[in-house]
Amino acid sequence: MMNTKLAINHTPMMRQFLQIKAEHRDQLLFYRMGDFYELFFEDAKRASELLEVTLTSRGKANGEPIPMAGVPYHAAEGYIAKLVKQGISVAICEQVGDPSTTKGPVERKVVRIVTPGTLTDDALLDNRNDSLLAGISVEDKKFGLATLDMSSGQLLITEVRNRDDLFNELERLSPSEVLIPEYSGIELSAETTLIRERPPWEFDLEHSVRILNHQFGTSDLNGFGCAHMSLAISAAGCLLSYAKDTQRCSLPHIRSIRTENRDESVQIDGASRRNLELTSSLKGDEANTLLNVLDQCATTMGSRLMRRWINRPLTNQTILQARQDSVAELQDNYLYEKLRDPLKKIGDMERILTRVALRSARPRDLVRLQHSLAALPGVESLLINPSTTHLSNLALCSQPLPNLNLLLEKAICENPPMVIRDGGVIADGYNEELDQLRELGFSAGNFLIDLERKERERTGITTLKVGYNRVHGYFIEISRGQSNNAPSDYIRRQTLKNAERFITPELKEFEDKALSAKSRSVALEKELYEALLELLNQDLKKMQDCAIAISEIDVLTTFAERAHTLNYCRPSLRSEFGINIEQGRHPVVENSLDRPFIANDLLVNEAQNLLVITGPNMGGKSTYMRQAALIVLLAQIGSYVPAKSATIGVVDRIFTRIGSSDDLAGGRSTFMVEMTEAANILHNASERSLVLMDEIGRGTSTFDGLSLAYACAHYLARNIKPITLFATHYFELTNLPNEVDNAVNLHLDATEHNDEIVFLHTIKNGPASKSYGIQVAKMAGVPWEVIEAALAKLTTLESIKNSCESEQTSTECIELKPVGEELSALTLWQELNELLRDVNPDSITPKDALDLVYKIKKVMGNP
Ligand code: ADP
Repeated sequence: MMNTKLAINHTPMMRQFLQIKAEHRDQLLFYRMGDFYELFFEDAKRASELLEVTLTSRGKANGEPIPMAGVPYHAAEGYIAKLVKQGISVAICEQVGDPSTTKGPVERKVVRIVTPGTLTDDALLDNRNDSLLAGISVEDKKFGLATLDMSSGQLLITEVRNRDDLFNELERLSPSEVLIPEYSGIELSAETTLIRERPPWEFDLEHSVRILNHQFGTSDLNGFGCAHMSLAISAAGCLLSYAKDTQRCSLPHIRSIRTENRDESVQIDGASRRNLELTSSLKGDEANTLLNVLDQCATTMGSRLMRRWINRPLTNQTILQARQDSVAELQDNYLYEKLRDPLKKIGDMERILTRVALRSARPRDLVRLQHSLAALPGVESLLINPSTTHLSNLALCSQPLPNLNLLLEKAICENPPMVIRDGGVIADGYNEELDQLRELGFSAGNFLIDLERKERERTGITTLKVGYNRVHGYFIEISRGQSNNAPSDYIRRQTLKNAERFITPELKEFEDKALSAKSRSVALEKELYEALLELLNQDLKKMQDCAIAISEIDVLTTFAERAHTLNYCRPSLRSEFGINIEQGRHPVVENSLDRPFIANDLLVNEAQNLLVITGPNMGGKSTYMRQAALIVLLAQIGSYVPAKSATIGVVDRIFTRIGSSDDLAGGRSTFMVEMTEAANILHNASERSLVLMDEIGRGTSTFDGLSLAYACAHYLARNIKPITLFATHYFELTNLPNEVDNAVNLHLDATEHNDEIVFLHTIKNGPASKSYGIQVAKMAGVPWEVIEAALAKLTTLESIKNSCESEQTSTECIELKPVGEELSALTLWQELNELLRDVNPDSITPKDALDLVYKIKKVMGNP
């Protein structure tokens, strides 16, 4: 425990430290001392472990040494980054008083708090990923959700009906830090996100409305169209208070609040998002993801926007059509190619402008901002009077800002140092007074050369030197041997081993002038720099709007380029139900194959919306299904799609139940994961949803699995009627089209050649005729003896099955239950399961097998 008592024997400095630390218990306190940030007590121990810096001590408290660890001021950013990555917040405490006029310790103040969700420093941010702070409020099991991207100033709010929807939203947004009210009972997994409890009054509606109105300079929030979203507003208010507290300054870059209506976007739950490998592969990297194929953006702002779009496909056709129209226009005359050059010259304006707003922009930020502004005319000259309304609006918002460009060009020199501290940032010619002070410094050089020459002549000492050091200032140095010949007006300043250093009244007078010129010029530069930031802030909105427009132009340009390079077509979007894709391809698989990808059609309409897909393992079932989802998703972010033609009736949700991954960490078996995902689909799918079910039932025994798969398919086809692609290895399911009108069988074709299976990857009507499981095992390198034994077993089983069918089933097989008792599918399967548990597959008798085949058929409705 840190001893925060102001013990009597503490030094004044330590007392100051403890006072400040008492207000920052949750953060590591970086306490500035000269060129170091020092940490004390428990903070020092933690920092020394986490940052691998030496733990030392400084002074004593109650007789015990006080643990201390420190990091150099100039390298602090790297250390802070390391801490923040581990979810730790850091309070930066600077010296703010003037040491020369202060008695006792110089005044210090926490100037900002760096937390994972409120980063704005370039070095701490991932430039292709948003870094979000989220706030959640709850009432009657409904949730309000607000997110703030501190580095761009975007504040978004939404409300969700239940926990599942909340988790899905959090998974989509993946915030770095989440604020929840204390005692709210909101339970979130803290594995990936930092969760912080805040006092409930910070979520108070009245408080929130007040702080938001104050921020936007409004009297009510009606103008933002969010007045009815009180839960979300509560969360937004808390976010804003917290953000202000961390930055310790006003946040002029947060200018409005935007509502995100969940009905306007396609809902995709976390599991489906992962299964479809949109922005992260199942392995956890970015290779072989949809984002990876699409993201050829020229700017980092564009990359971040594209990720946001992929994570939030839309149902609003007006917006989608506008994006498509723009892509079409950008394709004309290879406009997209010409735009790339000017776009590439544009830096991360969005984040730089935030630092301008927070007055933390570094000199090189301003150079990059200037280069970006200088590239705008290049964009403008290519987007002259676009015929598409949307593109023309974007062109208008991204119009050049020549005055600001000129201002920056004049103000900042070409290659400024990292920080303003030592000056050298403001360009010559920007300010007359600064030029004069610099001139003084420059003529100082000449003065010293002249002085050295003059003194050599006067004393006759040819080795005499004029020099400067930081401690003693200017001096005339004479070697020890000659020092006796120093003239009488030389005053001794410093004695070295081999030399003596002197000062003269003339040099002293010069020193006073030169040093004060230097310090005055540095101080003036700082003033000018701050005034420049002030000036830029007057046009912040214009520049921010421009940055937003440029990001979108970049994404649309990339869509156009991708469509052309990868041979995508413009999908036609409809409100009516159904999908018709001609020669569709999987955007990611086709990109990673070194052989041609086989394109396939997909037709879904009112008459056929449950597609039962069979075919051998490795035949392409999963690829075909995922490709359908990805094509729909691409269409609903406004992109072109990998197909010859496509008509897409917009969907409201995409569900997938794909793969069988154990959730071992969560303590759920494969089967449990599978069933949870299936339950989610059955509860939440609507007739406008797209559902992919792959090999459901694989995680349990054959009979359980089969019956569950069957029941799910049946329920979807009869009750909900969404677009369902149902891949299965249970051949029995191919019977579904005989029972429900809207189901059809499809299969992925394969053929045999010299005992080897050849996958054709083409989709055909009707069920597959064979499963080829053994051939696939052979391809996979299963030993030959095992393959032979398997083939022999298969032959026996098939002959038993055939003889059973031809004998019309012996009566003994049916006598499972007393006559008259009704058998439900489920009880029968449970019973069969019991029976099977004792059956040794190697000693299965023909009678056992016969029983089983019969029972399966009975439950499938085909005795
Ligand atoms: P299944 O789900 O039937 O086991 P997959 O969809 O996983 O099969 O496909 C197996 C592999 O076959 C894929 O990794 C891919 O390399 C290849 N493949 C699938 N579909 C196609 C296709 N249409 N054209 C070319 N190769 C394909």
